Amino acid sequence: MKLRVLVLGAGFGGLELTSILSDEIGDKLDLTLIDKNDSFIFGFSKLDLMFGRKPLEEVRLAYRNIVKPGVKFCQETITSIDPQARRVITDKGTYDADVLVIALGADYDVNATPGLAQGGHEFYTVAGAERLRDVISNFSKGHAVIGVTSTPYKCPPAPTEAAMLLHDYLLKRGLRDACTISLVIPSGLPIPPSPEISQELIEAFAERGINFIPERYVTALDPKRCVAILDDNRELPYDLFLGVPKHQVPQVVAESGLVEDGWIPVERKDLKTRYPGVYAIGDVTSVGTSKAGVYAEGAARIAAAGIVAEMEGKENLEMYKGIGTCYVEFGDDRVARVDMDFFSGPSPTGNFAEPSDAVGNEKKEFAAKRRARWFGL
Ligand SMILES: Cc1cc2nc3c(=O)[nH]c(=O)nc-3n(C[C@H](O)[C@H](O)[C@H](O)COP(=O)(O)OP(=O)(O)OC[C@H]3O[C@@H](n4cnc5c(N)ncnc54)[C@H](O)[C@@H]3O)c2cc1C
Repeated sequence: MKLRVLVLGAGFGGLELTSILSDEIGDKLDLTLIDKNDSFIFGFSKLDLMFGRKPLEEVRLAYRNIVKPGVKFCQETITSIDPQARRVITDKGTYDADVLVIALGADYDVNATPGLAQGGHEFYTVAGAERLRDVISNFSKGHAVIGVTSTPYKCPPAPTEAAMLLHDYLLKRGLRDACTISLVIPSGLPIPPSPEISQELIEAFAERGINFIPERYVTALDPKRCVAILDDNRELPYDLFLGVPKHQVPQVVAESGLVEDGWIPVERKDLKTRYPGVYAIGDVTSVGTSKAGVYAEGAARIAAAGIVAEMEGKENLEMYKGIGTCYVEFGDDRVARVDMDFFSGPSPTGNFAEPSDAVGNEKKEFAAKRRARWFGL
């Protein structure tokens, strides 16, 4: 009998776990990978889309390219998850599994921030980033506000990167003097675990004239007056608002009985949920790292090791460490690197490599390796 594994969600976590299981136990595996979309897009590609650096066709990685031993991809929408029975229902059928892995990521609730849908833009969905390409190319003067509306949110450096890339974009078009840029984030530092990169970023904001507003949220927009309202009731008039919307688990996860305090709790060491044979990895969990692809991927490695060890009747000696490399765009193709470690010490730490073209190339290599490993491209 082959091991029936159901992987829900073909994002960073689901793709990595599927690839590892196929490599290691492909001949004994009956794995079904389910996603509602037909293709994967790296989170950072949304920045490429909104600033017109790449077209959508160039950044889409089609799931039909997944050809791996023991793996079948199904483009279906999951409508029900029963973790007790390890049974999943989709718009096309019902699946039962020996092992269930939930890797459904985080969804957004744009309407949780009054006025955002009517008076602003979000750049966290592909559709939002696509819409912004035209909006940004028509923005020629006034105040651009980039603002976070709640925590947690994916890839904490992303709003900072958006501010730096907007500066670059406007500068190259000779429009920078006609525009102001403000960045509103909830933390005191741009990347709190790394004071070094945070300092570098704060200096970069000052050099570029980016108005940095730390320790604040945008709680609402008043579209009639074109004003962003912060959590201290301060008002920021804007001409262009780029927001990070409220994050939440997908509806089907919320209804599964797996969620506590907004996210799926898991054992930090092995990513197991409280249901036997059910793992959860990545943004959908409250494991304790930031929400980012590199951590989803690291969690996938540990969950995969646990699944293989259990199948072989061995003990899983690998533990999830919450380690991952984040790349931070400074504009002009210069990228910095932060090697994050969430769980080794009493609080998260990050080692920093200065922004450079070389690290920019490393980031390209990061993407290329995953294209090859997950999609054979
Ligand atoms: C602008 C931006 C920049 C970013 N930059 C980086 C970066 O530089 N580095 C980094 O590591 N991370 C970055 N991220 C974050 C990264 O994209 C996410 O944290 C990562 O994708 C999470 O992986 P995951 O596997 O948990 O979920 P996801 O990759 O989100 O995958 C979840 C999958 O589940 C599917 N799904 C959801 N609900 C259903 C359903 N009901 N039925 C079927 N399928 C469903 C979705 O279609 C999706 O494919 C960035 C994100 C953004 C928005």
